[in-house]
Amino acid sequence: MKHSPNDPILLNSSLHVDEARKAIADLVKELLEEAKNIDDPSKLISVSLDQAINRILAEDLLSPIDVPAADNSAMDGYAFNSACLGNSAVIVSLKVVGTAYAGKPYEGGISVGECLKIMTGAVMPDGCDTVIPQELSNSQSNQSIEFKQNLLKPGENRRLRGEDLQKGKPAIKAGRLLRPSDLGLAASLGVASLKVHRKLKVAILSSGDELRALGQELDTGSIYDSNRYSLTGLLNRLNLDIVDCGIVRDDPASLKAAFCNAAKVADVLISSGGVSVGEADFTKQIMQELGDVGFWKIAMRPGRPMAFGTLKPVAGQASPRKTLFFGLPGNPVAVMVTFYQFVRSALLQLNGANQTEAQLTQAISELTIRKKPGRTEFQRAILGRGTDGKPTVKLTGSQGAGILRSMSEANCFVILHHDQGNVAPGDWVDVALFEGLL
Ligand code: AMP
Ligand code: MG
Repeated sequence: MKHSPNDPILLNSSLHVDEARKAIADLVKELLEEAKNIDDPSKLISVSLDQAINRILAEDLLSPIDVPAADNSAMDGYAFNSACLGNSAVIVSLKVVGTAYAGKPYEGGISVGECLKIMTGAVMPDGCDTVIPQELSNSQSNQSIEFKQNLLKPGENRRLRGEDLQKGKPAIKAGRLLRPSDLGLAASLGVASLKVHRKLKVAILSSGDELRALGQELDTGSIYDSNRYSLTGLLNRLNLDIVDCGIVRDDPASLKAAFCNAAKVADVLISSGGVSVGEADFTKQIMQELGDVGFWKIAMRPGRPMAFGTLKPVAGQASPRKTLFFGLPGNPVAVMVTFYQFVRSALLQLNGANQTEAQLTQAISELTIRKKPGRTEFQRAILGRGTDGKPTVKLTGSQGAGILRSMSEANCFVILHHDQGNVAPGDWVDVALFEGLL
């Protein structure tokens, strides 16, 4: 890989977040290329629509039908032949000869001087190509209607067969992270199941002698392991298979065994802790044996140290592929920030998604935010609305990398870019929302 553990550039300077993202994206691309040559019968699976939410579509969904299937009315009104329209304000009078309902078409035809009462979605009867909305026509006791000749253009208020989607054309492109609207769209085409990529298997572990599992007693200096739980939440949001490898002590043999076990079963390993100054040398040694991993100092806050690379296939592994490895920092907020910034899109990309970037929005900062140029910062904040209706954002208290409460109370990150300096009240800032709407 491009940035190896002993790269002299990286030992002494910090990596811009964009460079780190690029290196990650490049390596994921390499892994995807390699995976093409590995025979894996479970790569694509078919799932019913009710199981398809948040899965990634593996093949284009081609529409088996024209949508709409027939010309139909876009309004409640009267359908007629446009031959009677013209440029003048002359009054046209048409006799109403029947009614067409959605799901109950009018079987007969109509002649010159006639029209048909028609409901939205009803199939256009033979001989009709235009619909005058009910509210624009002057109805004479339901027997006939009158309107000015130049009120409408031929073809108005008619939906054409295949106008939304033609038979055989892609309705949803491969690589889509399936959302509720996609499931509705597939159903509207009569499609009951979709071909999706199998879920990635992601192993997680926490490393540190001070960590205790929930239910254990807290002795002096120990803390509960929270990172595996926030990571589980983050991974569940992406609908991935999680392999929980527990807490691993800071000793080479345990760490090595845990990494090998994870590599055997998972596509990706995410560890937290053990990559900061002091501990990194020890982890580096193990990584040199197990794979190709770079130890990065990233110009960001929180989340400066991070390890990234691949683990070699190990004996007994079902398919001979490398395991993508993220060694996240131990601090609970740094874990979530580095996941958001680096891991999330890599997992989506590795799982076949074509749109992997989280969307940003902008809001007005209510207060001053101190920021030094030369690093990217992710501050925890609450997005709201000012009295003038404009979006505003306010930081949630103390922003220490270990203070999970600042994260829990927040609903977004304020992202302060590498070259950006202090923010003054009233300045617009970039914001990444924690929740997606659809
Ligand atoms: P490290 O990166 O291992 O030096 O850890 C940095 C800080 O994060 C230390 O205060 C650790 O105690 C804390 N930490 C590491 N792992 C976890 C974890 N799984 N849960 C909660 N805190 C952690
Ligand atoms: Mg540690």
